[in-house]
Amino acid sequence: MDRTAVTTEAPKSPWGSGTPAVPACSLTDVMSEQLARQLDEESNSSCPDTTSDLMLAQILQMQFDREFDDQLRREEKKFNGDSKVSISFENYRMVHPYEDSDSSEDEVDWQDTRHDPYRAEKPQATPRKGFTGKGKNITTKHDEVTCGRKNTARMDNFAPEVHVGDGLGMDLKLSNQVFNSLKQHCSSEQRRSARLHEKKEHSTAEQAVDPRTRLLMYKMVNAGVLENINGCISTGKESVVFHADGGSLEEQPIPDEVVLKVFKTTLNEFKNRDRYIKDDYRFIDRFSKLNPRKIIRLWAEKEMHNLTRMKRAEIPCPEVVLLKKHILVMSFIGKDHVPAPKLKDAMLGSEVIKNAYYQVLHMMQQLYQECNLVHADLSEYNMLWHEGKVWLIDVSQSVEPTHPHGLEFLFRDCRNVSTFFQKRGVSEAMSVYDLFNAVTGLNIPVGAENEAEFIAEIVALEKRNEGHVQRRGKKTFQVVSEDAGPPLKPDADD
Ligand code: ADP
Ligand code: MG
Repeated sequence: MDRTAVTTEAPKSPWGSGTPAVPACSLTDVMSEQLARQLDEESNSSCPDTTSDLMLAQILQMQFDREFDDQLRREEKKFNGDSKVSISFENYRMVHPYEDSDSSEDEVDWQDTRHDPYRAEKPQATPRKGFTGKGKNITTKHDEVTCGRKNTARMDNFAPEVHVGDGLGMDLKLSNQVFNSLKQHCSSEQRRSARLHEKKEHSTAEQAVDPRTRLLMYKMVNAGVLENINGCISTGKESVVFHADGGSLEEQPIPDEVVLKVFKTTLNEFKNRDRYIKDDYRFIDRFSKLNPRKIIRLWAEKEMHNLTRMKRAEIPCPEVVLLKKHILVMSFIGKDHVPAPKLKDAMLGSEVIKNAYYQVLHMMQQLYQECNLVHADLSEYNMLWHEGKVWLIDVSQSVEPTHPHGLEFLFRDCRNVSTFFQKRGVSEAMSVYDLFNAVTGLNIPVGAENEAEFIAEIVALEKRNEGHVQRRGKKTFQVVSEDAGPPLKPDADD
């Protein structure tokens, strides 16, 4: 029954009376039986099923409910306005959205899940006796079609990440051979992905550290050696450097600010650096006996020994605090959590950069002559500028000059230093050859700037050196203990 039909007044149009006005009728007319009958007939013509009172009542109720919901929706809209956070009046609605199929807003793409076309029909199970049917129509459990269907259904049991496609509703029949090779592929894929995951967990990733390292770091905080680990200063190919607040250690004072240099345990990066340690006679005995993980620890240990030597010669460099496996804790060069800039980034005036050059020259001589070391990775990237001084860092690869390639490494260092300072306009900066001679105290002649000749001379020197080192034999290994840094705590799991 349409309530809008019960109008007592014709609607007024602002553009005049376009449609003929419905004649007004009195309340008595409305109540009259005739009108009631007329209305009844009208609604009967549009909805033939209104003979039952119950049905009529329900239709009316539905109409009321929808109008109520419309009103509710309007209120909801007014309340929420353009706000990003909105309140829903859904729970107060009279008509459930799915019942209200008239409303296009609430239309859902409803699907009968009982007949999901993408789900395989369960194939008929073969009874225990192993066959069905009788006489000629016997089908055994080995029947090709039954087996094929069963195999297709069994694809449902593959791991969730295995995409089996949506052909299950197509009555696919997989032969045993195909099913078996699919199954094999899935399980090998799963094993591979598990291995990958494991590898990731056990390696020191780009940014973060592996769980083992995390535990070591946590232990340091727990033991009070460190107060706090603040954040990462640098992630290089071979190491990750963290800033931390120093705590306290019984035997020795710990600086307020320290860094943790964590040597990466992904072995690949270290492979091409083997020659820096393999041929370092100080480590030669141990290198051959160690597994790759322990070799990484040697790098940390090597940096510790080299830093200790440098400190003894009073070369500005970080002070070793503690070595724990592949983590080296040392003093922080910088202030208030801000690391000192690399020489490459420091903005220095012409006088200051000249002064820096002489500092570097002096440091290289000290390193060679007093510490018996060649940095082997010296450049503006591994020198920091702090409190008017150049500080040397990153000495894990440093070797003694008698290393089979020691002098070649030194030549490379000299080239980096000369080039950098010459580019920065230090006219006093020596040529690479002069610098090499000045550092080593050797007097290799420089013939017409011929680099090949110069290097050949260096290599010849190294050859002679090598024989010399070999003659020294076993005694050489003692150098490591001579360098002994801070007491190392024995590792429980070593
Ligand atoms: P890598 O072998 O990864 O180059 P480095 O020892 O050179 O390792 O350290 C990487 C960076 O971390 C440096 O360039 C420097 O900026 C910072 N860093 C390392 N040690 C210290 C330190 N003791 N104090 C302040 N910054 C440091
Ligand atoms: Mg470096």
